[in-house]
Amino acid sequence: MSKKLTTRTEDYSKWYNELVVKADLAENSAVRGCMVIKPYGYAIWEKMQAELDRMFKETGHQNAYFPLFVPKSLFEAEEKNAEGFAKECAVVTHYRLQADPDKPGKLRVDPEAKLEEELVVRPTSEAIIWNTYRNWIQSYRDLPILINQWANVVRWEMRTRLFLRTAEFLWQEGHTAHETKEEALKEAKLMNNVYATFAENFMAMPVIQGVKTESERFAGAEETFCIEALMQDGKALQAGTSHFLGQNFAKAFDVKFANKEGKQDYVWATSWGVSTRLMGALIMTHSDDNGLVLPPTLAPYQVVIVPIYKNEDDLNAISKVANGIQADLRAKGISVKYDDRDTQRPGAKFAQHELQGVPLRLAIGPKDLENGTVEIARRDTLTKEIVALDKVSETVKSLLDAIQENLFKRAFDYRASHITEVDTFDEFKTVLETKGGFISAHWDGTNETEAKIKELTKATIRCIPLDNKPEEGVCVFTGKPSKGRVLFAKAY
Ligand code: AMP
Repeated sequence: MSKKLTTRTEDYSKWYNELVVKADLAENSAVRGCMVIKPYGYAIWEKMQAELDRMFKETGHQNAYFPLFVPKSLFEAEEKNAEGFAKECAVVTHYRLQADPDKPGKLRVDPEAKLEEELVVRPTSEAIIWNTYRNWIQSYRDLPILINQWANVVRWEMRTRLFLRTAEFLWQEGHTAHETKEEALKEAKLMNNVYATFAENFMAMPVIQGVKTESERFAGAEETFCIEALMQDGKALQAGTSHFLGQNFAKAFDVKFANKEGKQDYVWATSWGVSTRLMGALIMTHSDDNGLVLPPTLAPYQVVIVPIYKNEDDLNAISKVANGIQADLRAKGISVKYDDRDTQRPGAKFAQHELQGVPLRLAIGPKDLENGTVEIARRDTLTKEIVALDKVSETVKSLLDAIQENLFKRAFDYRASHITEVDTFDEFKTVLETKGGFISAHWDGTNETEAKIKELTKATIRCIPLDNKPEEGVCVFTGKPSKGRVLFAKAY
């Protein structure tokens, strides 16, 4: 086993990077800013996908697929969107390589194979999709269109971090088209709510639903709804976004429909996405100095059984018991792995499963065989108990539920103790430096003040919470009147 992880208090960021690699979730690749997602990490992502996909379908959406490349003329059609993403675009200019006449064994771009029109590698797909929707929509009978795509996108980020911010990332993007503004707004809020439900019920990660300020809004959106989470180091993470796009893309791509009165009108749009960033959010919400801590709902396997044996006879006897337990657990819908590798000692197996965050570890040794018992260890609390064989499956079931609940509660309590109301800018700076977390403060509503606060403290307005109570006050920075508090934080 490789040496212990850097602890969170020593260096949170180093702890995170080491954990991602040592728990075998992902690693850096030969391509700057692009990661390799390893099988154990991908298994967690697949579980996230499966549940989100189920939730999308339950709310009436269907999956489809659109091309990776966006012709530049389409990309630039919605000006704000194009301007917002232009600086991060990878662009294909040629379609062929050839032997380099000056360098034997090397290839070069064939200068003859220049594309007539450059192709942007999608940083997001509104352009290509709205260009397609023009052909699909003629009348109100063609609406709504409720489509989602699972895809990769490329944003040429300068500062990257495994999962949290990569140049290529995996995500889903929903793109919907509606008859009315009200319907589109309802959809944008609904999908933000789906994200919040997923985050809380599956990731055991409490989130705050809110709207972004103008300066943090998605390029081309009229309103951006978001879910914001708080990581253990007191920094916030934007975990998902849902945009009300108004008629901006319909106007840019001339997507009109005949309404029920027979009049032509532009179509109303939304788009919404969550990405592999959720993996980073999951890791930073629950894990500890011993490694990953996973909520049972998303763990690749919820239970691991480790046999402790000296000889073949012991192993055979233990395996018989282990097989019975596996069958019982599977019958209850619990995923289980029997780790009977003979290449590793039990201690090394324990350490690996702890590092990889398996929610429950069952150990069976010769003593247990004699006594008809099993040792069950919880990953979240690191506590152990001895359980009679005939009680194992029901105990496991209730412990898994308890772990899921405990993880949410722990994260919720941490967040609750890290939302601080402040009324002066001195207090604002002190809380930010000493405690971190969300700062709830009055703001005068201007971009200038928001930018100034960011420049001075690195804190940004994460969101205006949807459940904000109206409250008269004065801006923490300018003293100008304010009608309610907003949440500031340093963010990933
Ligand atoms: P957006 O299209 O900008 O609203 O982003 C959609 C989702 O992708 C949000 O949940 C973002 O937090 C996430 N996201 C944005 N940029 C990146 C990135 N470079 N790496 C991973 N996730 C990202």
